[in-house]
This record gives sequence, C-alpha cells and structure tokens, in this order.
Amino acid sequence: MRRGRKLVVVSHCLLNQNSVVHGLARAPGGLTEVVTALLKQGWAIYQLPCPELRHAGMTRPPKTWAEYDTKEFAGCCRQIAGQVMEDIGRLIDDGVAVVGVIGVAGSPSCDITGSCGHLYRALLPELRARAVGLGFWLTDLPADCDGQSEDEFVGRLRRLADDERGRAGSVSGNRRESGR
Ligand code: SF4
Repeated sequence: MRRGRKLVVVSHCLLNQNSVVHGLARAPGGLTEVVTALLKQGWAIYQLPCPELRHAGMTRPPKTWAEYDTKEFAGCCRQIAGQVMEDIGRLIDDGVAVVGVIGVAGSPSCDITGSCGHLYRALLPELRARAVGLGFWLTDLPADCDGQSEDEFVGRLRRLADDERGRAGSVSGNRRESGR
C-alpha cells in the first residue's frame, strides 16, 4: 500500500478523553466520528502530548489562560513543541505534508483560532517555519462537539479535505497558514 503522506496534527484529547479535567469529558474514549472522518480522507493523525496532563496531572482543577500563563507551563509547552517538531521534521523530510492542525476551542492550552492556547503559541511558529510548501489549515474542535455522531464539524472536515484536494483556498471558519 502506498502511503498517503498527509498528516493532521491534533490535540491529545481528541483521541484520549481520559486526559481532560475531571467532569469535562465528552466521550468515553475519543471523538470517534471526528477521528474516523480524518482517517477516511486518507489522512494520518499525529497526536500531540497533553500539556496539562504533563504539567499538572489528573488532579488538576480547571484553569484559565491567565492562570496557565506561567514560566513553568511555558517551559513545558516549549519542551513539547521541540520534541514534537523533531518527529514532524523527520516526517516532513520523508515527504509527508502537514495538511491541518486541530485544537480545542476554549482551552487555555489547546485553543488555536481564539485566544491561541499556550501549547500552540509554542508549536505553531515552529511548524510554520518547518512546513514549507503546502499550506495547512487550522481549526478547533467546537465546544459543543462530542464527536459521537455526524455533525457540522465532521462536515467541515470533509470540506477541508475537498479544499486540500483541490487546493481551492480557504474555507469559512478556518484559518489557512502559508507554512512559510
Ligand atoms: S490540555 Fe489540550 S489536550 Fe489536554 S485535555 Fe486540555 S485541550 Fe485536551
């Protein structure tokens, strides 16, 4: 089987709801329909580490963006970004294209299109510098998406796939990065 060489980078908890703050899980395991929609497009998935799990463990309380705005957490996010970019850099060198990145809307660590969470503040500049060539889209898992059934977000992913195939430019509700 030929490799598709297309990669979507996703926040950890899309595939592991055990990592979210207690009481906030949306699904027993992962966001099934979202993950399935990605794989059905022939896209591989790179699961980022959960920065809050690494930094504060599973007894952590919910915190705001400002409460996570500390030197220690920034260092944790920078370390994750560096490790991740070693992996992704090797894949890019092997001809793999990052086609998109999915964060989590409203998360102080993993939001992309709103406040830009602390992990993506560390990661996206490195990814933009490294993923030269094909552009990649950025989007967030909406707060009301539990990934257990077909919904607007799954439809959006399909439209992004059509866009990626046709290189037709941006899709409403998402930002597109030049990768340069
Ligand atoms: S820090 Fe990110 S990956 Fe971890 S639970 Fe929160 S949104 Fe998910």
